Amino acid sequence: MLYVSTRGLEDSKNFSEVLHSGLAEDGGLFVPKFIPRLNQEILNQWRHLSYEKLALEIISLFSGDCFSRAELSDILNESYAGFHHELKSPLIKLEDNHYFLELFHGPTLAFKDFAMQVIAAMFAKTLQKKNFKINIITATSGDTGSAAVEAFKGISNINLYVLYPHERISQIQRKQMTTSNAKNVKVFAVQGTFDDCQSIVKELFADKALVSDVNLSGVNSINWARILVQIVYYFSAFYQLNDLFEGKLSFSVPTGNFGDAYAGFIAKRMGLPINKIIVATNTNDILDRVFKTGVYKSDIVRKTLSPSMDIQVASNFERLLFDLLNNDAKVVGKLMNDLSKKGHFNLEKSILTLISKDFDSGMVTDKDTMTTINHFFNERDITLCPHSAIGVRVAKDFVDTGETVVSLGTAHPAKFKETVEQALDTSISIPMKLQNIMEKQESVRVIPPSSQQVAEEIRKSYLREN
Ligand SMILES: *Cc1c(COP(=O)(O)O)cnc(C)c1O
Repeated sequence: MLYVSTRGLEDSKNFSEVLHSGLAEDGGLFVPKFIPRLNQEILNQWRHLSYEKLALEIISLFSGDCFSRAELSDILNESYAGFHHELKSPLIKLEDNHYFLELFHGPTLAFKDFAMQVIAAMFAKTLQKKNFKINIITATSGDTGSAAVEAFKGISNINLYVLYPHERISQIQRKQMTTSNAKNVKVFAVQGTFDDCQSIVKELFADKALVSDVNLSGVNSINWARILVQIVYYFSAFYQLNDLFEGKLSFSVPTGNFGDAYAGFIAKRMGLPINKIIVATNTNDILDRVFKTGVYKSDIVRKTLSPSMDIQVASNFERLLFDLLNNDAKVVGKLMNDLSKKGHFNLEKSILTLISKDFDSGMVTDKDTMTTINHFFNERDITLCPHSAIGVRVAKDFVDTGETVVSLGTAHPAKFKETVEQALDTSISIPMKLQNIMEKQESVRVIPPSSQQVAEEIRKSYLREN
């Protein structure tokens, strides 16, 4: 399988190159040249596979000859061994026609573990083969960073740098990132928003000299491998439903950077019978607005009760545009140029019509988020994290029309203890593992929202070691 950049200025790359580079050199994102289409027979054959085996089938369609089947199988078994549920992504029933896919049984209790564990193992494997050192940089709204620290800590030949928005993440998220005590991990609290962190990452990648001098790589969902690994649980959910539903099946996805929702779109493209991917946002609603009006315009980032979704520039939307524009990189490049020059771009009616075939959307305020957490606790004894509550709330309108919806449970409620307790007006218990980190010494540096200090730090520590 070969990959191209959404801006079209680069030669095709193989999976290993795409895994290691994160962002394309022309500023675009890598996408596969084509999406394999599965027939009914294959869909049936996969029905009874374990999570790891299902992942093996799906990922090997895209990873080319980067790993042998046995190597990939080892990587997946190792990656999911630390999950606390046999099914990895168990599906529970919330109410009639409405299901909840629990994606928070990994080591840091958010769905980010699904992909981060696998790509860390992929990096370790490929670097071991090449005897090569790299530096990984990632921006986080809270959960990507903790998943990355957990997955990459102590791996030789890899240094990890994490940027999170200072005082805009939950206490537990911060503790998970700053208490690893790992020599190969450095954490920066950026005095700004997630979008500022993400622009620092994009600036660092635009610095060609730095990228090649220190082998800079990225593990945000701009890295295709993350998207790829997340496709698997859409299939898993479908098989767990076991055809026990009538009519159409949609997925409601709490959305920030549009990585998870885009993975669902790829699952649909591969032939999984999905009606709509329902994009659920908080008041940082750029995607809900673009789907309804065709105007993609970023606003200031609002601080909400669902901090992992406090994002205005949804990077992966560029991948969707490339697909909807029939892989026309010129038009994508022009739209992205408009966005950076004028702060917005407008989509034509025909594109909006295409979007509406695969997507729907809705926005949820903090007040409704609280009400939803409260409702499901009182009525069903189910505790939702604020992000998951947003997906569930938006799904409700579709469920009420008779459609079957799977809402994604993106994080464990304990990660957002303060908010959940406020919503329920009672205290909730937190898993032992989280209790332990609360006491540990933190290591973090607060920096202004500029790429300079981070670039210097990466160069300095790279030189020290080589
Ligand atoms: C990252 C995250 C999201 C948003 O996912 P995207 O792929 O960025 O759209 C939603 N909920 C939680 C808990 C997250 O950690």
